[in-house]
Amino acid sequence: MNKKVIVLGAGLAGSTISYLLARDGYDCTVIDKNDHIGGGIWTFFHGDHPYTEGPRPYYGWSSSIFKWLNSFVPMRPIELECYSYVKQENDFFSFPIHEDDISRLSCSSQVLKELKERDLNNKVNNLEEYWIAQVGPTLYNYFVDKYSRKMWMVESNTEFEQYEWSLKTNPIKTGKKSINIDYCAYPKAKNGYNDYFTKALKDTNLILNQKIESSDLEEKKVFFKNGESISGDIIVSTISLDELMNNNYGKLAYTSRQFIPFVLPIKQAFPGNMIFAYYTQDEPCTRIVEYKKFTKHHSDNTLLVMEIPIVNDNNKLYPYVSSKFINQAQRYKNDLPNNVYSIGRLGSYQYSSIETTLCQAFDLYKKITGKSESGLEKELYNPNTGAKL
Ligand SMILES: Cc1cc2nc3c(=O)[nH]c(=O)nc-3n(C[C@H](O)[C@H](O)[C@H](O)COP(=O)(O)OP(=O)(O)OC[C@H]3O[C@@H](n4cnc5c(N)ncnc54)[C@H](O)[C@@H]3O)c2cc1C
Repeated sequence: MNKKVIVLGAGLAGSTISYLLARDGYDCTVIDKNDHIGGGIWTFFHGDHPYTEGPRPYYGWSSSIFKWLNSFVPMRPIELECYSYVKQENDFFSFPIHEDDISRLSCSSQVLKELKERDLNNKVNNLEEYWIAQVGPTLYNYFVDKYSRKMWMVESNTEFEQYEWSLKTNPIKTGKKSINIDYCAYPKAKNGYNDYFTKALKDTNLILNQKIESSDLEEKKVFFKNGESISGDIIVSTISLDELMNNNYGKLAYTSRQFIPFVLPIKQAFPGNMIFAYYTQDEPCTRIVEYKKFTKHHSDNTLLVMEIPIVNDNNKLYPYVSSKFINQAQRYKNDLPNNVYSIGRLGSYQYSSIETTLCQAFDLYKKITGKSESGLEKELYNPNTGAKL
């Protein structure tokens, strides 16, 4: 008889591993608490405007992974420029910080002095010290300090002992302003990535609107809210480790977002290739995104989505990059019994991108079956570098 696999979560990680295993004859059942598949990259519509909860352009370095995705949902390359609004200067500046913008700052001589004096090899202990060492106190104050505290809902950036993930490229970018990544693209279809999920889950039993409340992992069994359960030979979880493992070591911390879509009666709101506008000071939002810039939706109006940080246990989005919670997540991972696996952004408790989430699914496929997905056997990647997002 074919092995029965229970997959928890119908997002990118769960749908991909289920597709790979079902194709090899495993009997896969995918369960999700939502009323839709696709998790965080499912496309919704506001009026006729497509959007996702948080912008999800594909960024990546691997040609084979890009080709894999492109074979399910044809992708269109995009130019992606991000800007930060700095209230003190009443202007927008490229982010990552660009050398061309320094001369536009009213305090440019101070910034240049600080850049000259910085010691990039200084030993640092946390995100605040790291950024100050990289760009000096003024640029840290303008672009990072309040933004980061707002984003993570913390008092101080010294709480984060891990920091490399926060610097997306060189501290001060040179050359072209758009994000410099080998593959930067978005699906051509109006419904974004949605067809990836309908195709990936076509041979899978699907159970929606069922939240996993607890588990007996030795028995490979999970329980729903109504007390009913389902079991298999293998469990692949992509839900938060604490929820999967009955909160044995306490809750893991996440921040979430309130997404506020609104339509403006103009064809385009942001100039040029600007897609993201970050707000770096005491504004309540972290960013506003103009979706048609990458969805290429044709309309005389434009949809923007404002993101406001909140805590929401029903929509965990950003795992904390602090040792306390990373170690706690590791304790959960160490306790996973044989034939129970945990992958994906929530399941690995890592800040993974679309590319690195796909990597995790290919990796697990190899672990379970001993086989590599064709073309991906030589991929060099490290799921821990999801921070590149
Ligand atoms: C706001 C935001 C913006 C991002 N932007 C980008 C980007 O621009 N580019 C990029 O490459 N990456 C981006 N990412 C990261 C990327 O989208 C994710 O890494 C990837 O989609 C994660 O897929 P996943 O399957 O691991 O998680 P998810 O998509 O979160 O799927 C998990 C699924 O599990 C379900 N679930 C959770 N708990 C339970 C439970 N108890 N019972 C049943 N079901 C449950 C959820 O409903 C969900 O469907 C972004 C992430 C966020 C949060």
